[in-house]
Amino acid sequence: MSNHDLFQRFLFEDFQIRGEIVRLNQSYLEVLNRKDYPEMLARLLGEALVATTLLSGTLKFEGILAVQARAKGPVTLLMTECTHERQIRGIAEWEGVIPEEDLAMQLREGMLAITIDPEKGSRYQGIVPLERRSLAHCLEHYFELSEQLDTFILIHVSDQSAAGMLLQKLPAHNPEHDADAWNRITSLAASLKAEELHQLENEEILYRLFNEERVTLYPSEAVKFHCSCTRARTENAIRAMGAAEVYELLSEKSPIEVDCQFCGQHYCFDRTDIEHLFGKNILH
Ligand SMILES: [Zn+2]
Repeated sequence: MSNHDLFQRFLFEDFQIRGEIVRLNQSYLEVLNRKDYPEMLARLLGEALVATTLLSGTLKFEGILAVQARAKGPVTLLMTECTHERQIRGIAEWEGVIPEEDLAMQLREGMLAITIDPEKGSRYQGIVPLERRSLAHCLEHYFELSEQLDTFILIHVSDQSAAGMLLQKLPAHNPEHDADAWNRITSLAASLKAEELHQLENEEILYRLFNEERVTLYPSEAVKFHCSCTRARTENAIRAMGAAEVYELLSEKSPIEVDCQFCGQHYCFDRTDIEHLFGKNILH
């Protein structure tokens, strides 16, 4: 279908409420292909990928938005990223069986970090506890705390596809002439069924939900699975370990092999490569 793997913005002109729809198909399946994820975790990863792509719409500059959850288990790590070019990647780690119940049971005593990493300028990170029933509710909570912006997030994940909608009051939102607009619009959005979100064209979705309102739909953008790992970044990570530790590793096993967790890319560093990174180590 033509409307898969896309990000599209819309705007309620009369109320200064902005919206986005994200639908992931091929890009989601490419993330799932990297590991044999249990079904519940595959769904959670789909939710996180959709949420991250929705949140990437708040990037005001070139860079990466990352959503990362760490917890005591059974899901121990959930990490998804989206760039301003809508390139996504993600991984998860787990131990044991993942329950079907709410998020707080899947990620016990977990924290959710939202990191904005601009290509130029300084990094920003906001953190919220994973205390709500779903990732969408946790992120609504995050916006409430960090930006005082009312935000609505709806996410539906099926076997093949993950999709979501975000609505957010803009700072210019002026409810005076229609105090009920936010409640009315979010109630209508909440009535959107999973199959409608997965299967309908966005024009059709907006028409079915909001045909009484004035809505502007902007051109859609393609979303792709793309890993940002490079040999140069892997070299930086090796450099950060320090010469002593790296030369010790090398003496145990040469070459040093590094596999990217997100995409499976294999990087290999032999003694000549390592000497190039650190200079000839005087100890060896
Ligand atoms: Zn990679």
